[in-house]
Amino acid sequence: MSKLKLKLSFDKDCVTKPVIYELVKKYDVMTNILSANIEYGNRGNMILEIKGKEENLSLTLEYFKSLNIKYEIYAEAILWDESKCINCGSCTAVCPTQALTMGKDDLLHFDKDKCVVCQLCINACPIRIISVEL
Ligand code: SF4
Ligand code: SF4
Repeated sequence: MSKLKLKLSFDKDCVTKPVIYELVKKYDVMTNILSANIEYGNRGNMILEIKGKEENLSLTLEYFKSLNIKYEIYAEAILWDESKCINCGSCTAVCPTQALTMGKDDLLHFDKDKCVVCQLCINACPIRIISVEL
């Protein structure tokens, strides 16, 4: 089983199409919408995780192309040096998926599974302890 995290950008013609339903039905991929901003009758974008057989993920990308859905693949991982963190919370303000959150214990918590590697947190950290794994 392979996994991809993608940022999709739809034009207004695609917003009302059952794209997610088709992914599951036609290509047998599991989908997890991490964030979405879609206006009916207008443009939209979505951060989506898909899991399935490698060949089916390739077919899914071809399907997006056929619908003129633009996609960006997030491939790397984010590294957070927990031992140096001062728990200021700045990174949580920019994280679009709540992968970074402040807990009731006033400590930063990082949920790797929710991270889409958008890298917004890197510049938000005042002491530069977040980086990208290459
Ligand atoms: S890269 Fe940083 S800001 Fe983006 S989703 Fe991951 S933890 Fe959140
Ligand atoms: S911005 Fe940096 S120091 Fe502040 S909570 Fe996030 S990782 Fe820790």
